[in-house]
Amino acid sequence: MPEFDPLEAFADVRHEFGEHGGVNMSIEASTTFTVMHAGTMPEIFQGRRGPDTGGCYLYGRHFNPTVYVLGRQMAALEGAEAGYCAASGMGAIAATVMQLCNTGEHVVAGDTLYGGTYALLNDYLPAKAGIRTTFVDARDLAQVDQAFTAKTKVLYVETLSNPTLRVADIPKLAELAHRHGAKLVVDNTFTPLVVSPIQLGADVVVYSATKFVNGASDIIAGIICGSTEFITSLMDLHLGSLMLLGPTMDPKVAFSISLRLPHLGLRMAEHSRRALAFAQRIEAMGHKVVYPGLESHPDHALLARLAHRDYGFGGVFALDLKSTERANQFMEHLQNTERFGFMAVSLGYFDTLMSCSASSTSSEMSEEARQSAGLSPGLVRISVGYTGSLEQRWRQLERAINAVGLP
Ligand code: PLP
Repeated sequence: MPEFDPLEAFADVRHEFGEHGGVNMSIEASTTFTVMHAGTMPEIFQGRRGPDTGGCYLYGRHFNPTVYVLGRQMAALEGAEAGYCAASGMGAIAATVMQLCNTGEHVVAGDTLYGGTYALLNDYLPAKAGIRTTFVDARDLAQVDQAFTAKTKVLYVETLSNPTLRVADIPKLAELAHRHGAKLVVDNTFTPLVVSPIQLGADVVVYSATKFVNGASDIIAGIICGSTEFITSLMDLHLGSLMLLGPTMDPKVAFSISLRLPHLGLRMAEHSRRALAFAQRIEAMGHKVVYPGLESHPDHALLARLAHRDYGFGGVFALDLKSTERANQFMEHLQNTERFGFMAVSLGYFDTLMSCSASSTSSEMSEEARQSAGLSPGLVRISVGYTGSLEQRWRQLERAINAVGLP
């Protein structure tokens, strides 16, 4: 990776004193904002004044100062010009795609995506907005190239595909997208700090901040980072997807998340350290593990090239138990006998979360689509937490593997 250091960039923007000099910013819990001169109001509506031009705020669904600070902090972490927030990851993704595509236009997307994103692109947007998507194997650059049409506006991928953990070659995909006059949008939910997509050429990065960014599984939230022009366009009074579809982040939510960003680096490093240790030990037992930190992973060298040094290869690994029954038996044993973690969807929690993707978060995909994406019915996705000691958790995991047996 180049010299960009996300934590240094973050430290530069973090100093935002509270109203009375507090070390934390204040929460601006107001839905509407006072102007001192009546003439200011039309200027805000005309887009001539705003948070960056005269310091004026209009209304909470437009920009809110607390939410705006979180957006700026996330933009700094990404090395992006600007950032703003949404009520959920899906709010961020839907607003981004709809902002970049009009009716009749086209998206090229990786064929393994979070199930909700897949349904948005495959089902919702064609039916509701006439925006169509061609799904491709994002690791096959020739296939990606061929999928572009004159109408393609967006190439959409996840840095680490959910749940198959293939790695997107962001610099090459950015080059392809730009050659076709499209924008590269990257969902970096699995790998905050591990990879900085904007630095690698992506135009927009989106997050489900419900996951690692937040870290406590108590808040649903989304983030969008990109150029100032793009973020401003999302708030346009006539055509802004965040402004008009309204997936607004509450300022109290923004405040809570802002308190967790300073330790995101420490958390990511520990998630990754434990995921790597478990993956290596399971592999040493002679079992197959899907984890991009392992040299046996087909995209290991690529991720090693794209990733920053200090945060490892991410906190998620997967085991293929081949059948749903076997996967369920394994997860039940881990949760109910070993107390190793929770059988629950989602990821990025401080405790371990595990789910069988084909019958849960990827169930929006048809069986055929799952097969072509290499998503086995028995694939168990494990988001590794950092509660307890590593050795204690390993003993629990090892006992469960020996009790249930991996195929
Ligand atoms: N992107 C990815 C990779 C996800 O895993 C998820 C949710 O699981 C989402 C987006 C959607 O985020 P949210 O649930 O915050 O709307």
